[in-house]
Amino acid sequence: MSNTPTLTVNPHGSPAVMDSAAPLLELESVTAFYGDLQALFGITLHVKPGEIVTLIGSNGAGKTTLLRVVSGMKNPAAGVLRFSGADVRRVPAHEMVKRGISHVPEGRQVFPFLTVRENLSLGAYIPRARAALKRSLEEQLALFPRLYERMNQLAGTLSGGQRKLLDLVRALMAEPRILLLDEPMAGVSPALRVELLRHILELRDRDRITLLIVEHDLDFVMAASDRVVVMNNGRVIADGTPGQVRSDERVLDAYLGARRAAA
Ligand code: ATP
Repeated sequence: MSNTPTLTVNPHGSPAVMDSAAPLLELESVTAFYGDLQALFGITLHVKPGEIVTLIGSNGAGKTTLLRVVSGMKNPAAGVLRFSGADVRRVPAHEMVKRGISHVPEGRQVFPFLTVRENLSLGAYIPRARAALKRSLEEQLALFPRLYERMNQLAGTLSGGQRKLLDLVRALMAEPRILLLDEPMAGVSPALRVELLRHILELRDRDRITLLIVEHDLDFVMAASDRVVVMNNGRVIADGTPGQVRSDERVLDAYLGARRAAA
């Protein structure tokens, strides 16, 4: 029998999320363009405090664009974008970080010629986080022993999975209320996948951080999500618990079926 840890499906979502809670993040009829190319067509999406929502969909579906709109890296052309009840449609990215939105884009974002400690310090650049830097650095490292052991190592010498952890912890240094993760599982070894999943669930359960995640790894999506939102050609085509989405014919046709056929 294999000793490789496995991820199990979370069919009903988290019991910690209250149905009656006001949304932390609200998008209504959001559109976005790259020049003449329309990437988002009227996206409506609500994320409640304490939820882990994952966005899935085929390549080019608009998932990354949606994260970029939420973090202020890309302006929506039309629609409503609210965070914690406030209109943030025209708020720039650096201001979004101060309001509590941290975004970990796809790919490796570490500074390779700086140490792990220096990379983490750079994550705490907003005034609130800077004031609490020493405490939060120690608190975070106590929770991530793999990084603690490598505090004085150059980030460029870390493995792919360890860099993912560093990306994650650096974003946490800004003390976010919502964390946007673009493909956190890409390039991560099987053992570290399980560890990363545990950290992500702890962020929700222990730190009350809300997460909006783009991910192609369906095992992770099914294990981590309270809610799964399926996108296709710039539109939301399904939104439900992992169990609901897995049995939705439209999802099977538009996405899961295509992936199964390709496998
Ligand atoms: P993937 O799973 O491959 O990362 P995605 O669902 O994240 O895809 P997006 O990256 O948001 O999709 O892309 C949505 C559409 O916008 C695609 O048609 C893509 O080619 C286009 N697009 C994305 N970024 C740019 C850009 N910088 N300039 C022009 N077009 C872009």
